[in-house]
Amino acid sequence: MRGWSEVAERVGATTRTSEKTALLARYLAPLSGSELRPAAVFLTGRPFSESDRRTMGLGWAAISTAVTNLAGTTAGALGAAYDRSSDLGQAVAQVLTLRTDQPDPANSPEIEEVAEAYSAIEAASGAAAKGKIFGGLLARCDCLTAKYVVKILTGELRIGLREGLLEAAIAEAFNRPLADVRMAEMLTGDAGETAVLAKEGRLGEARLRLFHPIKFMLATPAEDAAEILSRLGPTVWVEDKYDGIRAQLHRRGGESRLYSRDLNDISDQFPEIVAAAGAMPWDGILDGEILAYADGHVLPFLSLQARLGRKDPSGAVQAEVPVIYVAFDLLAVGPRSGGGTAAASAPLAAVGPLAAVEPLLSTPLAERRRRLEALELPVLADGGRFARSHLVTADSVEALDRAFGEARARRNEGLMVKDPQSGYSPGRRGLGWLKMKRALATLDCVVVGVEVGHGKRHGVLSDYTFAVRDEASGRHVTIGKAYTGLTDREIAEMTAWFEAHTLRQAGRYRLVEPTVVVEVAFDVIQRSTRHQSGFALRFPRIVRLRPDKSAAQIDSLQTVERLHGELQTGAEYLVTADARKPVRD
Ligand code: AMP
Repeated sequence: MRGWSEVAERVGATTRTSEKTALLARYLAPLSGSELRPAAVFLTGRPFSESDRRTMGLGWAAISTAVTNLAGTTAGALGAAYDRSSDLGQAVAQVLTLRTDQPDPANSPEIEEVAEAYSAIEAASGAAAKGKIFGGLLARCDCLTAKYVVKILTGELRIGLREGLLEAAIAEAFNRPLADVRMAEMLTGDAGETAVLAKEGRLGEARLRLFHPIKFMLATPAEDAAEILSRLGPTVWVEDKYDGIRAQLHRRGGESRLYSRDLNDISDQFPEIVAAAGAMPWDGILDGEILAYADGHVLPFLSLQARLGRKDPSGAVQAEVPVIYVAFDLLAVGPRSGGGTAAASAPLAAVGPLAAVEPLLSTPLAERRRRLEALELPVLADGGRFARSHLVTADSVEALDRAFGEARARRNEGLMVKDPQSGYSPGRRGLGWLKMKRALATLDCVVVGVEVGHGKRHGVLSDYTFAVRDEASGRHVTIGKAYTGLTDREIAEMTAWFEAHTLRQAGRYRLVEPTVVVEVAFDVIQRSTRHQSGFALRFPRIVRLRPDKSAAQIDSLQTVERLHGELQTGAEYLVTADARKPVRD
């Protein structure tokens, strides 16, 4: 693990992409299969592969206890160190320099041992048991190794490994085509598996698996109709942008499951959709949105919120907030197989009847949609719970504007503009899909600090400081502060959460674990030295909590820079609910 940590340190120290790739390729090439697997997974900044849904469940308190015990110092030392760097791995390393019994780097644990320790921490029940295993691991690590063991464990690697760089390094290390590595990674969702397949020359064996969710394709924000057309035109596909919960539906035989965008199984939150899917006469994977829907209308997201995170909802709850599934994409399809049970990890194409299920990720959207239209779905018109997204084409600014207005009239958020020739790129925010919310620009940010409010909000933590992610450094940089637009009940619930997840308190201000994602609306982006990002938002307001998003999925500083450029054509623009009007030079 010491070797891995040294490479990570060097990768973090250079800003040159080619150098990062070369460093990683040189490191990965000679590793044995058992070392290569965890080495590649850890480079994704996680203890487990992306398709592995286990979470460590080790909190700040357990880490702090282990570190302060080893260093023979007080709990405040870690908080103070964290305060200086906003990086827990670095803070841990710094505090551990106080250890009187520094381990010899030559005896630091092997990378396989670290992987085993992560699994053991995950499997242990209770904070004490987890903390004990972690303490044992940390005791054997020199400071540099400890720094990276903690960074991986907390999912905050921050060595400037942009998306795609690891894939490039794997391709270079084993001299394989980058496209093959990418495809294998898309299908397996496991960098360790991909690296081993590349090493052994077996990339072609990677298979899409049912009941094994793949990352969702993401959209890039765009506001200007003319720009959208020039990027994706001359003719673009325009779908309503539904404001619900993104979900992937996998089905085989009589078995169906729903997965959220953070790849969790949410089937038991929406049993009526799962039941309705059971009868469909095909196997495969749909991508779509779960919406609250009654009397022929989509209900606002607020209604759907009552169903969020609620397992096995009662009949009364199901009747109060009825849900439907709007499909907008088809990722794999084949004839329905006979079996009724989900063999969770059997490769889709591995056995008899499943061989007929065809992955469609590289197939152009136009063809995927054609196949989606041809599928038999229990649709709303027949009393079912399924629908296909509303789709029209547009080839002019006027047509796009009209479509926007019509989508709004149908009570949807805005438009998704798609390139009919684009493939489905899991996990990527490419230019194949643009989201047009135009009326109000919003950013997804993570809350990093909270304060008690004033007046009626005295005594609750209602003022949030939020941050975006700087892709260059991987760090969170603050961009604004807002009073929440949340309900009193939500504020009370969040207050309890923030109190339990405070990292440090300075007067009224609490530095909190950067976990809670909020969607922030604003009118103007300005350059400003007030916040770490170098930007400030005019009239920021929190539109809603985004419990469906993790801190890894927030918007980046680079998106803010681009939006700033777009909104800054000569004069500053005030973007309001119904018009864009120049404010002043
Ligand atoms: P956002 O959550 O603001 O980043 O916008 C992207 C999200 O819009 C996707 O993750 C989907 O949940 C949602 N969405 C709504 N309608 C569509 C659609 N027709 N096509 C693709 N995504 C959609």
